[in-house]
Amino acid sequence: MKPTCRELIAFLDDYCAGELAADWVEGFEWHLARCASCVAYVASYRETIRAAQHATHVEIEDLPPDLLTAILATVTTRK
Ligand SMILES: [Zn+2]
Repeated sequence: MKPTCRELIAFLDDYCAGELAADWVEGFEWHLARCASCVAYVASYRETIRAAQHATHVEIEDLPPDLLTAILATVTTRK
C-alpha cells in the first residue's frame, strides 16, 4: 500500500485515531518517510487537534466564531 498525498490526507483522521488498517498504517509511514510536506501537514493537524481539544475543555461555545472557522479551515485545507 503506497498512498498518495491526497489519500494520506483523506485518511488522516483514522490514522490519528489509531483506527487505520495495518496495511494502510504501513503505507502512511512509507509515505511520511519520503514526503516532507505531508510530515508538516500531519504535525500541524495534530497540533490543531490538541488545540481544539483544549478549547473544548475550556468551553468551545465561548470561542469567537471566527476562531472556530479558522481552526476548521486549518484541519480541512491543504497548504
Ligand atoms: Zn505526501
